[in-house]
Amino acid sequence: ITFADFKLNRQLLNAIADAGFTKPTPVQEKTIPLITAGHDVMGIAQTGTGKTAAFVLPILMKVKYAQGTNPRALIVVPTRELGMQIEDHIQQLAKYTDIRFFAIYGGLGPKSQIEQIEKGVDILIATPGRLMELYLKGALILKELKTLVLDEADKMMDMGFMPQIRALLEVIPRKRQNLLFSATMSPRIEKLSEEFLEFPMKVEI
Ligand code: AMP
Repeated sequence: ITFADFKLNRQLLNAIADAGFTKPTPVQEKTIPLITAGHDVMGIAQTGTGKTAAFVLPILMKVKYAQGTNPRALIVVPTRELGMQIEDHIQQLAKYTDIRFFAIYGGLGPKSQIEQIEKGVDILIATPGRLMELYLKGALILKELKTLVLDEADKMMDMGFMPQIRALLEVIPRKRQNLLFSATMSPRIEKLSEEFLEFPMKVEI
């Protein structure tokens, strides 16, 4: 199997080639067709397996190009470091597109992040606290979201982010695609997936 088998567009295939990815990793091989088909997906995969590109590539296909002002895809992450890492990975894969993306996180003032949001964003990466802070300020409009990713969901639970995640789920469109990634499977992740995913397809690496 090759990346071309996923029916990715030319811009993405060229960026993948530039990155030196010669073939999909197992998590990509299993997950990309499911996400592309529109399923909710629960992926159990560790960092280092290629899980980021597994959800970023289908999101880039779905978002396609810069449009409007408000995010259509949201990737929620436990830490600023992971957010920046995903931002770099999107940078690498989206370089031949005009898709706008960036990460917001706490630890610095919100002003420059608010200004960036106002300029327009297609894919937003966010830590839960800063996300809800900017939403509650009215700086962030989430009504056009079509795809939601919870990355490292086990870590988000460990860090006590469930109240913010639940608050987020209350305010975003009901009709959307949900993707949940976790390094480990556990009863509480199972429970989260019941709460959050609709007829999920499970991928375990
Ligand atoms: P991740 O599991 O998303 O943190 O990815 C781990 C590393 O694998 C990242 O540095 C990616 O750039 C790299 N990577 C992702 N997909 C592939 C692939 N298909 N072939 C080679 N490297 C990849």
